[in-house]
Amino acid sequence: MVSWLIWGYAAVVGACVGSFLNVCIHRLPEGESVVRPRSRCPECGAQIGWRDNVPVISYLLLRGRCRGCGIRIPAQYPVVELVTALVWVAAAVRYGWAWQALTVAVFFTLLLGIALTDAKSYLIPDEFSLGGLALGLLLSPLPGGLTLLQSVTGAMTGFGILFLTALLGEWWLGEPAMGGGDIKMMAMVGAFLGPVGAVLTIFMGALVGTLVFLPLSLRTERLVPFGIFLALGAAATEAWGDLLVAWYRTNFLGV
Ligand SMILES: [Zn+2]
Repeated sequence: MVSWLIWGYAAVVGACVGSFLNVCIHRLPEGESVVRPRSRCPECGAQIGWRDNVPVISYLLLRGRCRGCGIRIPAQYPVVELVTALVWVAAAVRYGWAWQALTVAVFFTLLLGIALTDAKSYLIPDEFSLGGLALGLLLSPLPGGLTLLQSVTGAMTGFGILFLTALLGEWWLGEPAMGGGDIKMMAMVGAFLGPVGAVLTIFMGALVGTLVFLPLSLRTERLVPFGIFLALGAAATEAWGDLLVAWYRTNFLGV
């Protein structure tokens, strides 16, 4: 019974966070404030009242259309709210009523924001990377997760590896090989996952990125939104990193 209450609470908080995440995804790449002005319909300019701004539910009640002019509301809005709610519920299911559930939910929300802005605009806003770095460092001393020292060394590891890779890549290719956003993002990821997690994230991100995107980008000559693969790698590391490290130690190190 108590579990159900916690999960329901996580769903409501997560949906509201997802609603704010939508605003961030839209406005941060344009350099706009996420606080003001209040949301308006891009078509008719009508301000969106609170009852039309309830996550997921308003979209369903309005049947996906603006109350003023009837234009379609992009499905991205309820989908992001729903996915964020699911992420927060998953964290609550895994960790229960614990600080670590909050830390993990915040981390996954940041990763979702980064993946979506990188996919849409090929950039990672500093609010997600550097703001997230500050959040990761702040949340680390809470019980259950990393220590502050692990968080700091993790941030330095993530930043350092990508910074060196970028330097080497630029020297090798003669042009910038990696965006500054990816480097700042990995400082944030390291602050949440620690040094081992940062290394695992980069390894998995590079692996998936190479396997999936290289063939695609060779054909279409599009930029590689590497942040998406780093976000996937980071999420996988948070979910299965301990298992992977244990498996590696028993199979390859024999300890
Ligand atoms: Zn409208």
